[in-house]
Amino acid sequence: MTIKCTMCGRRAVVKLRYARLSLCPEHFIEFIEKRFKKTIHKVKVLREVNKVVVAVSGGKDSVTLLHLMHKVSKELGFKIIGLTIDLGIGEYSIKSVNKAIKNYETLGISYKIVNLRKEYGFSIDDIAKYRKRAGIRKPICSVCGAIKRYIMNKLALDIGVDAVVTGHNLDDIVYYIFSTLYTGRIEDLARISIYTPSKYKLVAKVKPLAYISGKETLLYVMLRRLPFNYDVCPYARLRTFHEQIRKTSNMLEEKIPGLKITYAKMFLEKINPVIYPYYVREKELKECKICKMPTTSEICAFCKIKLAMEKVLRDD
Ligand code: SF4
Ligand code: ZN
Ligand code: ZN
Repeated sequence: MTIKCTMCGRRAVVKLRYARLSLCPEHFIEFIEKRFKKTIHKVKVLREVNKVVVAVSGGKDSVTLLHLMHKVSKELGFKIIGLTIDLGIGEYSIKSVNKAIKNYETLGISYKIVNLRKEYGFSIDDIAKYRKRAGIRKPICSVCGAIKRYIMNKLALDIGVDAVVTGHNLDDIVYYIFSTLYTGRIEDLARISIYTPSKYKLVAKVKPLAYISGKETLLYVMLRRLPFNYDVCPYARLRTFHEQIRKTSNMLEEKIPGLKITYAKMFLEKINPVIYPYYVREKELKECKICKMPTTSEICAFCKIKLAMEKVLRDD
């Protein structure tokens, strides 16, 4: 039996149980764009910015983000600069960077590609290979995350933008909440938010896909036939805990449609504003002795990784 679009009666391609809607391609795209705009309007800061960096890996989430931000930027009158980091993860990075460039060029957005190996002397593949010898204890994805955050902030500071916008989606937010509850680190929990204001040399950060799931971004890029890298990073399979949480939350969503979005909304809009002032202790930031970027210790996390990698690559 053909399911009909709740809005227009044409053939539906998706049933959103949590929203009690069946939608045709056109109305699904409209639904996602409306939800995105609603989030943008909640983050008042995006109504006051002149220039933002949009981080684009080339995957489904960041490609969705770029296209939605491009639409909103026309309405709100701010400029977008795309940032893609070539992490040096074999074929995966080559494909990702190419897809990101295709999207920038279609939309006429100016962009910067930062090649980790060319600019800093090592890649994520090098870290995967030499991490233990270099004395880096953190898992590869934590190291990669720290590197990405550093480069995004550095570029944003160098070119003087008002915010860095990233493609963290609803599943990422739900994962952060679940995993941080698990560790009991209330301060980390209190820091989970759609908008993080700027501080010292840390540029403000915005996550406007917070209420759009990974399944929805996938359908959005597919229905709009946008170029994106369908492949999954080869190191993602190492995130076993992350994978278990993702599977569990999807299982719960099957049983209770709307659980993920309600959970994220209640946390971000009701619980977070209450716990933030009590539990977030702003640590004093100072300049890293090597790169002058913000840090709480003498040398920032990025420079520590870079020094360790330089040593191990020199000795190899
Ligand atoms: Fe980096 Fe891990 Fe994501 Fe791969 S899966 S891009 S290593 S954070
Ligand atoms: Zn329709
Ligand atoms: Zn540094």
